[in-house]
Amino acid sequence: MSVTEVLLERNARFQARYSGPGSLEPTLRSLVLTCADQRVDPAHILGIDLNESIVLRNAGGRVTPEVLNELALLGTIAAIEGMDPGFELIVVHHTDCGTARLGDSSHHGLLARYFGIDPSDVPGKCVTDPAAAVMLDIAELARNPFVPSTLKVAGLVYHVETGAIEIVRPATPLSSVEPSSVA
Ligand SMILES: [Zn+2]
Repeated sequence: MSVTEVLLERNARFQARYSGPGSLEPTLRSLVLTCADQRVDPAHILGIDLNESIVLRNAGGRVTPEVLNELALLGTIAAIEGMDPGFELIVVHHTDCGTARLGDSSHHGLLARYFGIDPSDVPGKCVTDPAAAVMLDIAELARNPFVPSTLKVAGLVYHVETGAIEIVRPATPLSSVEPSSVA
């Protein structure tokens, strides 16, 4: 049996108890950005249920040009739907992230394309400390003129060894990011 067949069986059980679609607007009015790593699934580690939050996942849960494009697109959909713009964005990085294996200079070209930066800037961007990476990414959001400064942004680190969450930055408006960290 293929993995797809296994998952289709699970979907049949899901359908049997399905109660219908929720609104386009997530009930927790939030967006979680986190790593694609299967150990960091927000449905499990943060208990996010169906309809509750938008979740964006990529390698590392990093703020890349693609993520900024996604935010612009989602913000436009929210405006079309007439949603209140007061969403909370939660950046979650984690310990033992696979992206920390890419520190060798032979991967700088790959990472430069991922982040849309010059290869010489990769060492400062691809840091192995997840708490530092969270703050770098929040500074990247603050630097972007298309991300509203009133957006509340929180930064968390999930420890895969214990299941614990560390608060790096509580949910506060992006406008409160220190200018020194946006340099
Ligand atoms: Zn990861």
